[in-house]
Amino acid sequence: MFEKVLIANRGEIALRIHRACKELGIATVAVHSTADANAMHVRLADESVCVGPPAPKDSYLNIPAIISAAEITGADAIHPGYGFLSENARFAEIVVAHNITFIGPQAEHIRVMGDKIAAKDAVGKVGIPLVPGSDGEVCSIAEARAEADKIGYPVLVKAASGGGGRGMKLAKTANDLEEAVSTAKAESKAAFGDDAVYLEKYLTIPRHIEIQIIADAHGNVVQLGERDCSLQRRHQKVLEEALSPALTSEERIRIGETVRAAIEKLGYLGAGTVEFLYENGEFYFIEMNTRLQVEHPITEQVTDIDIVREQISVAAGNKLSFTQEDVKFRGHAIECRVNAENPRTFRPSPGKITDFHAPGGPGVRFDSAVYTGYTIPPYYDSMIGKLIVFADNRELCIARLKRSLAEFALVGVETTVPLFIELVEEPDFLAGDYNIHWLEKWLEEKSE
Ligand code: ADP
Repeated sequence: MFEKVLIANRGEIALRIHRACKELGIATVAVHSTADANAMHVRLADESVCVGPPAPKDSYLNIPAIISAAEITGADAIHPGYGFLSENARFAEIVVAHNITFIGPQAEHIRVMGDKIAAKDAVGKVGIPLVPGSDGEVCSIAEARAEADKIGYPVLVKAASGGGGRGMKLAKTANDLEEAVSTAKAESKAAFGDDAVYLEKYLTIPRHIEIQIIADAHGNVVQLGERDCSLQRRHQKVLEEALSPALTSEERIRIGETVRAAIEKLGYLGAGTVEFLYENGEFYFIEMNTRLQVEHPITEQVTDIDIVREQISVAAGNKLSFTQEDVKFRGHAIECRVNAENPRTFRPSPGKITDFHAPGGPGVRFDSAVYTGYTIPPYYDSMIGKLIVFADNRELCIARLKRSLAEFALVGVETTVPLFIELVEEPDFLAGDYNIHWLEKWLEEKSE
């Protein structure tokens, strides 16, 4: 096992990794920007190194500074968390070139899955079902027209390097196509420095279902079931559930086994998530995330498996501590992403937290890095914590969620908790009857 891990991240995920390390008897090194000198991840870590000024590109994305921090402190591994450098194949290579273990998959897998065109090609070859779409990149408007006619409208123009919902444009009819292609290209060029785009059939009322997997370096791959992340705003997840209220157990077994077998063929290492759209009983691959995800705790709760602990352990060369047969799903878990934002306009609300009380009691987990007196800096994403609740079944889980939201108290900045308090009363939510557009529509209706 490692002796010392450098955590190349901030916020709740840096704490989550720190906690797993401590339980494994591993020392931790925090890195931070000048804006985060008082952050909880810095306070809890055994050592800390300032890696630059507030802007992410100068600190949390500053590869030379992070590698130097690892070398100075003698860290033998780096955990990238999610976001920042977690899906940067070059970073993974540089870490390895410095004789430090990268806690994540091999650089080549990060690279392939980071390019959505290459990813579709790779997973299609190992038996994962795809969204019908163009055969790779569309290089001209003429080609886009020909492909879109074949696929049938509506079509979605997607950036090969896209992420976080950016570089994605809908063409409802042939009239919209040219503009959709040019705006998707421009957006992707600006955000990711790459303007390659491809087309996909636009699924009208799908759910977002994703499968968590974890693999060791000894050929063992285990799938940990699905998460339903259909409640989204601007293609960003807002509330997630495990397991999905929509799948039958037959569908669950089928997609889980398809993914497990495919990942085994790819020779992938570590934790990862294969994301699908699900419509009319069929699954369609959209992307693979080669890292730990924000919503991993709901899977931990329904499987009783510590994903971060296993992720660190397999990176150190150990075998997974369980087999597929050991994985038993129990109960239900829901996660709400609590953001420091106005609950109506979603405008970020940075500032000082003057009073804070986290919900607790049976079946409640609040993964966060904030505390009373903490000032949320304006430079990073606005998530302040994840409220995770679990219970024997979905109904009890929702009851627990309601009472936990009522216990939540935070003064000084606005949060999205009032939104969740309303959401959990909605009949469609209670019935588990929603798709990826439901939340946007509900928000629109409320603002009218
Ligand atoms: P990103 O990497 O930007 O998050 P994804 O490919 O994961 O992009 O898609 C994000 C979200 O966009 C999905 O969860 C879904 O809501 C929507 N989406 C993506 N592809 C399609 C599609 N073919 N049809 C309908 N919606 C889609």
